[in-house]
Amino acid sequence: MTLPEFAYFNGKIVPWNDTKVHVFSPVAKYGIGIFEGIRGYWNPAEEQIYLFRLRDHLERYAFSQKAMRFDAGPSDGELTQALIDLCRANQFRTTVHIRMMAFIDEMGEMGATGPVGTAITALPRATTKQVSAGASAQISSWMRMPDNVMPARIKCNANYHNSRLAVMQAQRDGYDVALLLNSRGKLSEAPAMCVFMVRHGQLITPGATSDILESITRQTVMEIAEEYLGLKTVERDVDRTELILAEEVFYCGTGAEITPVTSVDRIAVGSGEPGGITRRLQHLYLDLVTGDSKDHPEWRTAIY
Ligand code: PMP
Repeated sequence: MTLPEFAYFNGKIVPWNDTKVHVFSPVAKYGIGIFEGIRGYWNPAEEQIYLFRLRDHLERYAFSQKAMRFDAGPSDGELTQALIDLCRANQFRTTVHIRMMAFIDEMGEMGATGPVGTAITALPRATTKQVSAGASAQISSWMRMPDNVMPARIKCNANYHNSRLAVMQAQRDGYDVALLLNSRGKLSEAPAMCVFMVRHGQLITPGATSDILESITRQTVMEIAEEYLGLKTVERDVDRTELILAEEVFYCGTGAEITPVTSVDRIAVGSGEPGGITRRLQHLYLDLVTGDSKDHPEWRTAIY
């Protein structure tokens, strides 16, 4: 991977290799950090990078810190300026994935609430090949951890241990992605993605109390499905066998965008090809994030 020249670290744009924490800091010892993954979409015609739904990411970033009882960090204005400065310093002219992280630095106890460090990286990130070809999914034997164990709603570094176990199992078993069930045996989410299905023409996704991260892409899919396709999403429990009955299944997230799932446990979803509603949602989504569509300007923050 080609690394960028600069990163943001505790108030300054610094050379990439200057973003260091101590190996015995709480963030390294216990994963005591929270983060956001944000995409900046390059629009070649306008020579512009648009950050997608930055306000919503900042809101979730603030919630994660509040739930973790972190001391106050930089303001939303300072963070927005940092993102802009970082993309400009690296002179990006491509689609990027930004990771913005607040973490407990220095030597500290498990219950330390500060000092809070801030680090931001931006790396070029293209769309995966699964977005067009579709992905094979495995129902993981790992369970999504419940809210009163490790809340998935908080975007905390340590939560990704659960996701990683499922990723490793799926990869070693020859699948593209894992789907996790929750402690009630109902569909929860995928590692870094939320899941939708189309059944009887209806768009359905596990509800917000299914041990999911309240995904911004999930919210966007629900909004654009209603606005442009007249489809109102039903949020309800989803059984694993419904994924076999479904006409279409897809997962979504900032990194994954909207990716069709073409098989679950090697059983074809629908015809085994990406579905029509999934394809329409993909096109609507990509037009909005890149600014090719001028609708919803409130969702795009320009870098240049
Ligand atoms: N679930 C988890 C666990 C995630 O890490 C992510 C990625 N942020 C998502 C879902 C998708 O969320 P979003 O659409 O906000 O990127």
